[in-house]
Parts: sequence; C-alpha cells; structure tokens
Amino acid sequence: MNYEYGIIGGGPAGYTACISLSKQGHSVVLFEKGEIGGTCLNRGCIPTKALLHASEIYKQTMNASKYGLDIEIKGFDFSKIAEYRDNTVLKIRKGLELAIKNSGVNRANGVYIVFAEARVLDDKTILANGEEYKVEKIIIATGSEPREIKGLEFDGKFILNSDDVLKLNELPKSVLIVGSGAIGIEWARIFSNFGVEVCLIEIAEHLIPLADIEVSKRVERIFKQNKIKFYLNDSISKIENKKVTLKSGAEIEPDFILSAAGRTPVNPFNGDCVLGDACDEIQLAHYAIHQAVNYTEGTDFIKSLTPSVIYGEPEIAWVGLREQDCGEDCTKIVLPVSALGKSWCDDNTDGFIKLIIKDDFIIGAHIVSKEASALIHEILIAMQNNIKISELKKVCFAHPTYSEGIFEAICRI
Ligand SMILES: Cc1cc2nc3c(=O)[nH]c(=O)nc-3n(C[C@H](O)[C@H](O)[C@H](O)COP(=O)(O)OP(=O)(O)OC[C@H]3O[C@@H](n4cnc5c(N)ncnc54)[C@H](O)[C@@H]3O)c2cc1C
Repeated sequence: MNYEYGIIGGGPAGYTACISLSKQGHSVVLFEKGEIGGTCLNRGCIPTKALLHASEIYKQTMNASKYGLDIEIKGFDFSKIAEYRDNTVLKIRKGLELAIKNSGVNRANGVYIVFAEARVLDDKTILANGEEYKVEKIIIATGSEPREIKGLEFDGKFILNSDDVLKLNELPKSVLIVGSGAIGIEWARIFSNFGVEVCLIEIAEHLIPLADIEVSKRVERIFKQNKIKFYLNDSISKIENKKVTLKSGAEIEPDFILSAAGRTPVNPFNGDCVLGDACDEIQLAHYAIHQAVNYTEGTDFIKSLTPSVIYGEPEIAWVGLREQDCGEDCTKIVLPVSALGKSWCDDNTDGFIKLIIKDDFIIGAHIVSKEASALIHEILIAMQNNIKISELKKVCFAHPTYSEGIFEAICRI
C-alpha cells in the first residue's frame, strides 16, 4: 500500500495535517490507536468544558433567588452529567470523522484511516496491524501523556491523572489537586461548583505560574472568595493511609489526589516532521493545529502570539508579554471589569482587562473576565497586524459589551 503521507496520531495536529493534505489532493494514511480527536476531544479540552458548563449552570441555579427567580433545585445526578459529557464528545467525534473522510479531493486516493498502533520501521515504512504501509513522508503527531511526579505515581484509585478523573461517574466529597496550570485550575472550578471540597497545591510562589503576576494574584483572591483552599510554595512530603502531609506541615485527607503537573511528549519515532504536543513546544490544541497548517500549507504563524485561555467563571486569557517580562520602556493600563455596564447586568464584576503598551502598540494583554476567551482575540488581531492604538481608538465598539472594555482601556492611555 503506497501513500504520499503517513500520519501517526489523529489528534488536532494529525487530523489537521490530514485534512489539509488530502484537500490539496495528496494521498494520506492516518494511524490512530485510540479515537480520532486525540487528547483534546476525548480526554482534554472538550469533555472538561462540557463538565464545566454543567457545573456552572448548577452553581448559577443554586443562586437564582438572587435574581428574583423561584427555582427549586433538588441536586444533581452526576452519572447523567457524565452522559452529557460523553455525548458531547461523541457528537463532535462523528463530525470530525466525517470531515476527514470527506476531505479527499482526489477520492481515488483520499484518506485512509487505520485504527491501530503504528510503528515506524524505516523512513518510508510504517507498520500497523501486521501490515506494512509505504509512504513518501512520515508525520509524527503522537501527542503527550500526563506527567508522573516521583512519589505520586498514578494508581487510578487514590492518585489520579487527568485521564482518570474524566472517567468518574460519581463525585468525591473532597479532592487535593497538585498543580495550578490550566488543568488544575479548571478542575478546581468544576469540583468546587459541584460542592466538592477542593484544596490545591502549587510549588511556585503563585497560582498559574505562567500567567501575568496580577492575573495570578486576582485568581488567588477569587479562589479565596469561592472557598477553594490553596497552598503556595508547597508540595507533598508524605502520604500515609490517604493522609497527605505537605512540606509546610499542613495535613489533608482527601478522597483522592488529582495530579495535574503537566504533560510529557510521546515521541518514540523519527519522522520528516513532528507536530503538536509531541514536539514539546506549546502544548495547546490551537498551537498544534496552526503548526500543522504551517507545515502543510506554509502559512505564516507567529508562535509568540499563541493565546492562552483558562475556562470557568471568570475566564482567564492572555497573549504576549507579561508585566514581569517588561522593562521601563513599557507602560500598563488596567481597566476593572466593574467599569463596564454589561458586567453589572451579568453580575460578573470581578476581573480586569490589562494591556501592556510600548510606543503606540499593545505588546501584551491579560484578561480576567467573563468572555475573556473571545476578548483576547480582538487584541490579538491588533497585535498580529501591528495596528496602532491610535487606529484602534477609531473602532466603534458596541455597548453594553465586554469588548468596549478594550476601547475604555486604550482611551485611558
Ligand atoms: C484535561 C485537559 C484539558 C485541556 N484543555 C485544553 C484547552 O482548553 N485548550 C487547548 O488548546 N488545549 C487543551 N489541552 C491540551 C490539548 O488537548 C493538546 O494540546 C492537544 O490535544 C494536542 O494535540 P496533538 O494532536 O498534538 O496530540 P493528541 O491530541 O494527544 O493526539 C495524539 C494522538 O496520537 C495517538 N497515538 C499516539 N501514539 C500512536 C501510535 N504509535 N500509533 C497510532 N496512534 C498513536 C493517540 O492515541 C492520540 O489520539 C488540554 C489537555 C488536557 C489533558
């Protein structure tokens, strides 16, 4: 069996490369040992956001009387919420599989999907299901897996990883989360919204160590308000009979530990090209997708302008330089979200839009706000296209919106 391209891994990197190459008329064979969609669709972005959505509705409904609504909520059946999570994934997966199958312009060649573990035999041969596939080029898009910390080896019972926790069909009463990156923060919010007692530990000085310092401090304040306990500059020193002792001396007895301390690239092969999490650059789905398009279509891609988003209430999003990276030639402007009429209508006044500015350009943006995941792209478009702040001021932003916060912020410069 001869193909122009052999792609190992059907996650965002692999399926994007596959659809793009196939649309260009190339023959492609795609190998996937699990399910199409990879980590993002099956064990990452999508199922966590589906759960987060259900948890937010639950929390908001519990507070409905605040808005004059008379709703009696009896509780929830987590097995049904898990069904919603799984059905969401299934619907998207079906659509994606169809998109891959339909992508072949040259249907005689098109895409062939092999659901099996693949192995590179040499630079032109891939082995899967006992068959050899001859290809001209090999793309490695094998993704990543949860990182195991020494002393916190996953056992699927007391020490869980992000894959295990997505298989839960019932909720614990209490959980200890190790690591406050995007995965740790989102799970802390999901559990807490459902009333689970959450404790988070972070080895760095602040939550979300990769974020702008003001973002980290605001999230810490919001977590305190939401009674999500956290320990900074701390780590686990001992676990005995499910009793966890931290280096600080604190003792916690959670139902289980979710270890969310990053992901390790999976790349046992040499290929013509390595894409996505496997190449150990930025482990985000949109980065994987853009890398794939960059490789297959040669489009420009400014890696330093890859946005980060952490979901939940309020959302957290950023792009570009952080305050702690900047010199004295930069200025900052911070607009509290409470300055916006829409935030009061939505009862979501906690947060800010922070812009880092040099000359007449935005070089960094850090947002804690409802709709931050959308707002960040407005700023990103300006940054990527070198649009001056004086030009941005001419844009008519609608009222009442969170977007007008960008206008309000730049008008304060
Ligand atoms: C809980 C969680 C939440 C996340 N949330 C977000 C988010 O909100 N936004 C975001 O941008 N990113 C998020 N991510 C990260 C995102 O999922 C990854 O960056 C993205 O999936 C990387 O895509 P990829 O194609 O490189 O790898 P993957 O999606 O991991 O896909 C790799 C695929 O390769 C297959 N494979 C591996 N080896 C072989 C082999 N030998 N033969 C055949 N198949 C093989 C695997 O089965 C897998 O399907 C999240 C991750 C997690 C864990």
